[in-house]
Amino acid sequence: MFVMIGACRLELLQGDITRQQVDAIVNAANSELAGGGGVDGAIHRAGGPTLMSETSAKFPQGCPTGSAVPTTAGNLPAKFVFHTVGPIWRGGQEGEPDLLRSAFKTCLELAVEHQCESVAFPAISTGVYGYPKDLAAETALQTIHEFLQTTQQPKLVRMVLFDGGTYGAFARVLESMLA
Ligand code: ADP
Repeated sequence: MFVMIGACRLELLQGDITRQQVDAIVNAANSELAGGGGVDGAIHRAGGPTLMSETSAKFPQGCPTGSAVPTTAGNLPAKFVFHTVGPIWRGGQEGEPDLLRSAFKTCLELAVEHQCESVAFPAISTGVYGYPKDLAAETALQTIHEFLQTTQQPKLVRMVLFDGGTYGAFARVLESMLA
């Protein structure tokens, strides 16, 4: 499903982020940028070793939670990978929503800065970091919606949800935002 926000399109798709033909994809990394499982592992496998050599060379100090750093995209169809670090869910009283909002917003700012017309996000923090999917969907979609309303860029923001349950959670939230 998709919604238009002015001239920009916000869409939800069930699929694999490594296959997306967009200018930039977002990686849900860890703060050491050390690689890992989940979407991080899939992106590094598909992108090849240049992603890791670039993060190690340019960002040896890693990346703080709620922020993001850019690299090129190696063998991926995208031009850039924005490596962001979402919060680990610790019950919701430890600033998790602000940190998740900041992760999305920083990536959207990087997309504008790198003149990307299209960017694809995974459901940051909803895997091993344990963020409840419905709450993550609210924060993610509100943040993207607000950014597109204000900035009118990038022209396409795609949330790529790996499984049906996550897609359903995001679709319910997007529908309720339209109601
Ligand atoms: P985090 O540590 O931020 O929770 P994970 O990689 O464990 O990151 O999970 C984040 C989300 O990415 C989960 O919803 C997971 O199902 C999803 N995911 C895993 N592999 C892929 C992929 N290839 N494309 C898109 N999403 C993926």
